[in-house]
Amino acid sequence: MNHRKISDNTYAVRLSPGDDVVQALTQFAGENHTGGAIWGIGSILWAELGYFDIHRKIYIKKRFDEEMEILSLMGNITLKDGEPLVHIHAVLGRADYSTIGGHLFAGEVSATCEIIIHAWNIDEISRKPDEQFELALWNL
Ligand code: ZN
Repeated sequence: MNHRKISDNTYAVRLSPGDDVVQALTQFAGENHTGGAIWGIGSILWAELGYFDIHRKIYIKKRFDEEMEILSLMGNITLKDGEPLVHIHAVLGRADYSTIGGHLFAGEVSATCEIIIHAWNIDEISRKPDEQFELALWNL
């Protein structure tokens, strides 16, 4: 992973082959004390996606072992229990040009992943438990 601050509150982050997207961004957030909004594109060797079933209040996870384009990666970095929480949704493009998407739990970068982070101090937004959905939601 390489990164550069390109303006007062914007980082460019390039993930490297083998990086896990979520782990690398969590590490970046911790090292730079940075929360923010995330946009990215790139390519991936596999991904573990989730769909949150609001009735059962659980994530249904599925792993896709195939090379895919990261067509759209969007999310945010906030604080949960004092630690950075990277929340990302991804739309991934398959070799046949169809797409899949979901909450990104993990995924290994193949060639690159180019990410822009609109940064703020990570203390600005934290999460608290929501009893209705049993999720950690923004505490604003
Ligand atoms: Zn999500």
